[in-house]
Amino acid sequence: MNQSINQKITYGLERIAKAFRVLLWEESKLYKISPIQIQILLFCASHKQENLKVSFLANEFDLTKATISDSVKVLIKKELLSKKINSSDSRSFTVKLTKKGNEIVNKAKGFTSVLNKSIDSLTTIEKENLLANILSIIYQLNQQKIISTQRMCLTCFHYEKKGNTNYCNLLGTALKKEELQIDCPDHKMTA
Ligand code: SF4
Repeated sequence: MNQSINQKITYGLERIAKAFRVLLWEESKLYKISPIQIQILLFCASHKQENLKVSFLANEFDLTKATISDSVKVLIKKELLSKKINSSDSRSFTVKLTKKGNEIVNKAKGFTSVLNKSIDSLTTIEKENLLANILSIIYQLNQQKIISTQRMCLTCFHYEKKGNTNYCNLLGTALKKEELQIDCPDHKMTA
Protein backbone atom coordinates (compact mmCIF):
# COMPACT_ATOMS: atom_id res chain seq x y z
CA MET A 1 0.00 0.00 0.00
CA ASN A 2 1.34 3.41 -0.91
CA GLN A 3 0.85 5.45 2.26
CA SER A 4 1.67 9.12 2.46
CA ILE A 5 4.46 10.15 4.81
CA ASN A 6 1.88 11.96 6.97
CA GLN A 7 -0.07 8.72 7.37
CA LYS A 8 3.11 6.78 8.25
CA ILE A 9 4.00 9.36 10.91
CA THR A 10 0.45 9.15 12.32
CA TYR A 11 0.71 5.34 12.49
CA GLY A 12 4.15 5.68 14.10
CA LEU A 13 2.80 8.01 16.78
CA GLU A 14 -0.06 5.59 17.38
CA ARG A 15 2.44 2.73 17.97
CA ILE A 16 4.39 4.86 20.46
CA ALA A 17 1.14 5.80 22.23
CA LYS A 18 0.34 2.08 22.36
CA ALA A 19 3.70 1.35 24.02
CA PHE A 20 2.89 4.07 26.58
CA ARG A 21 -0.51 2.50 27.28
CA VAL A 22 0.97 -1.00 27.63
CA LEU A 23 3.64 0.21 30.09
CA LEU A 24 1.02 2.15 32.06
CA TRP A 25 -1.29 -0.86 32.17
CA GLU A 26 1.50 -3.16 33.38
CA GLU A 27 2.48 -0.67 36.08
CA SER A 28 -1.09 -0.11 37.30
CA LYS A 29 -1.64 -3.88 37.64
CA LEU A 30 1.18 -3.98 40.21
CA TYR A 31 -0.84 -1.73 42.53
CA LYS A 32 -4.29 -3.11 41.66
CA ILE A 33 -5.54 0.24 40.39
CA SER A 34 -6.59 1.34 36.90
CA PRO A 35 -4.33 3.17 34.39
CA ILE A 36 -6.21 6.46 34.85
CA GLN A 37 -5.94 6.11 38.63
CA ILE A 38 -2.16 5.77 38.45
CA GLN A 39 -2.04 8.77 36.10
CA ILE A 40 -4.00 10.81 38.64
CA LEU A 41 -1.55 9.85 41.40
CA LEU A 42 1.45 10.79 39.23
CA PHE A 43 -0.22 14.07 38.27
CA CYS A 44 -0.89 14.93 41.93
CA ALA A 45 2.80 14.41 42.73
CA SER A 46 4.00 17.01 40.26
CA HIS A 47 1.35 19.75 40.16
CA LYS A 48 0.15 22.60 42.35
CA GLN A 49 -2.34 21.75 45.09
CA GLU A 50 -4.86 24.30 43.74
CA ASN A 51 -5.07 22.32 40.47
CA LEU A 52 -5.80 18.99 42.10
CA LYS A 53 -9.57 19.12 41.77
CA VAL A 54 -11.97 16.97 39.77
CA SER A 55 -12.76 19.61 37.11
CA PHE A 56 -9.08 20.33 36.45
CA LEU A 57 -8.20 16.63 36.26
CA ALA A 58 -11.13 16.00 33.89
CA ASN A 59 -9.85 18.71 31.57
CA GLU A 60 -6.27 17.47 31.87
CA PHE A 61 -7.13 13.90 30.90
CA ASP A 62 -9.91 14.79 28.46
CA LEU A 63 -12.38 12.70 30.46
CA THR A 64 -15.75 13.53 31.99
CA LYS A 65 -16.00 14.86 35.53
CA ALA A 66 -18.06 11.77 36.44
CA THR A 67 -15.27 9.40 35.31
CA ILE A 68 -12.60 11.32 37.21
CA SER A 69 -14.85 11.65 40.24
CA ASP A 70 -15.30 7.83 40.33
CA SER A 71 -11.53 7.29 40.13
CA VAL A 72 -10.86 9.87 42.84
CA LYS A 73 -13.43 8.18 45.10
CA VAL A 74 -11.65 4.82 44.65
CA LEU A 75 -8.25 6.38 45.39
CA ILE A 76 -9.62 8.03 48.54
CA LYS A 77 -11.19 4.72 49.62
CA LYS A 78 -7.86 2.96 49.08
CA GLU A 79 -6.20 5.70 51.19
CA LEU A 80 -3.94 6.78 48.33
CA LEU A 81 -5.48 10.27 48.20
CA SER A 82 -7.09 12.39 50.89
CA LYS A 83 -9.59 15.22 50.56
CA LYS A 84 -8.68 18.81 51.38
CA ILE A 85 -11.89 20.80 51.83
CA ASN A 86 -11.87 24.40 50.59
CA SER A 87 -12.22 26.58 53.72
CA SER A 88 -14.45 29.13 51.90
CA ASP A 89 -16.73 26.53 50.25
CA SER A 90 -17.33 23.21 52.00
CA ARG A 91 -18.71 21.63 48.77
CA SER A 92 -15.44 22.21 46.95
CA PHE A 93 -12.28 20.22 47.57
CA THR A 94 -8.86 19.38 46.22
CA VAL A 95 -7.06 16.08 46.71
CA LYS A 96 -3.69 15.34 48.22
CA LEU A 97 -1.42 12.30 48.07
CA THR A 98 -1.25 10.29 51.27
CA LYS A 99 1.93 8.59 52.51
CA LYS A 100 0.72 5.36 50.87
CA GLY A 101 -0.05 7.25 47.63
CA ASN A 102 3.42 8.80 47.65
CA GLU A 103 5.01 5.38 48.04
CA ILE A 104 3.24 4.18 44.89
CA VAL A 105 4.25 7.34 43.00
CA ASN A 106 7.90 6.80 43.96
CA LYS A 107 7.82 3.25 42.61
CA ALA A 108 5.72 4.02 39.52
CA LYS A 109 7.23 7.28 38.27
CA GLY A 110 9.86 5.52 36.15
CA PHE A 111 7.31 3.46 34.20
CA THR A 112 8.29 5.13 30.90
CA SER A 113 12.00 4.36 31.33
CA VAL A 114 11.97 1.84 28.43
CA LEU A 115 10.60 4.55 26.14
CA ASN A 116 13.14 7.07 27.47
CA LYS A 117 15.97 4.63 26.79
CA SER A 118 14.86 4.10 23.20
CA ILE A 119 14.94 7.88 22.68
CA ASP A 120 18.52 7.83 23.97
CA SER A 121 19.65 6.29 20.71
CA LEU A 122 19.03 9.66 19.00
CA THR A 123 21.63 12.41 18.84
CA THR A 124 21.06 15.67 20.74
CA ILE A 125 20.10 17.50 17.54
CA GLU A 126 17.69 14.73 16.55
CA LYS A 127 16.09 14.91 20.01
CA GLU A 128 15.77 18.70 19.84
CA ASN A 129 14.15 18.52 16.42
CA LEU A 130 11.85 15.70 17.51
CA LEU A 131 10.74 17.67 20.57
CA ALA A 132 10.12 20.82 18.49
CA ASN A 133 8.10 18.83 15.94
CA ILE A 134 6.04 17.01 18.58
CA LEU A 135 5.29 20.33 20.32
CA SER A 136 4.19 21.74 17.00
CA ILE A 137 1.81 18.80 16.36
CA ILE A 138 0.37 19.09 19.90
CA TYR A 139 -0.10 22.83 19.35
CA GLN A 140 -2.02 22.20 16.11
CA LEU A 141 -4.26 19.63 17.80
CA ASN A 142 -4.89 22.02 20.68
CA GLN A 143 -5.79 24.86 18.31
CA GLN A 144 -8.30 22.57 16.60
CA LYS A 145 -9.73 21.71 20.05
CA ILE A 146 -8.96 18.00 19.62
CA ILE A 147 -6.97 18.02 22.87
CA SER A 148 -7.47 20.26 25.86
CA THR A 149 -5.36 23.02 27.39
CA GLN A 150 -1.67 22.38 27.03
CA ARG A 151 0.68 24.08 29.47
CA MET A 152 3.34 24.44 26.82
CA CYS A 153 5.40 27.44 25.71
CA LEU A 154 3.62 27.68 22.36
CA THR A 155 0.27 28.41 24.07
CA CYS A 156 1.73 30.61 26.82
CA PHE A 157 1.12 34.33 27.33
CA HIS A 158 4.79 34.72 28.34
CA TYR A 159 6.14 33.11 25.15
CA GLU A 160 7.49 35.16 22.28
CA LYS A 161 9.24 34.18 19.09
CA LYS A 162 12.00 36.70 18.36
CA GLY A 163 13.32 35.82 14.90
CA ASN A 164 14.50 32.25 15.29
CA THR A 165 14.77 32.55 19.06
CA ASN A 166 12.20 31.22 21.53
CA TYR A 167 11.84 33.66 24.41
CA CYS A 168 10.16 33.48 27.84
CA ASN A 169 9.17 36.96 29.02
CA LEU A 170 8.44 35.66 32.53
CA LEU A 171 11.94 34.27 33.01
CA GLY A 172 13.37 37.09 30.89
CA THR A 173 15.52 34.69 28.96
CA ALA A 174 15.88 32.95 25.61
CA LEU A 175 14.90 29.29 25.69
CA LYS A 176 17.10 26.70 24.04
CA LYS A 177 15.19 24.14 21.97
CA GLU A 178 15.51 21.54 24.71
CA GLU A 179 14.18 24.05 27.26
CA LEU A 180 10.81 24.44 25.51
CA GLN A 181 8.22 23.32 28.06
CA ILE A 182 5.41 20.82 27.61
CA ASP A 183 3.97 21.07 31.15
CA CYS A 184 5.17 24.31 32.73
CA PRO A 185 4.02 25.26 36.26
CA ASP A 186 4.21 28.98 35.32
CA HIS A 187 2.19 28.60 32.12
CA LYS A 188 -0.44 31.27 31.52
CA MET A 189 -2.97 30.88 28.73
CA THR A 190 -2.94 33.49 26.00
CA ALA A 191 -6.11 35.60 26.01
S1 SF4 B 1 6.27 30.57 31.60
FE1 SF4 B 1 6.78 28.44 31.12
S2 SF4 B 1 5.42 27.87 29.41
FE2 SF4 B 1 5.43 30.11 29.57
S3 SF4 B 1 6.99 30.73 28.07
FE3 SF4 B 1 7.94 30.64 30.12
S4 SF4 B 1 8.84 28.57 30.21
FE4 SF4 B 1 7.35 28.57 28.52
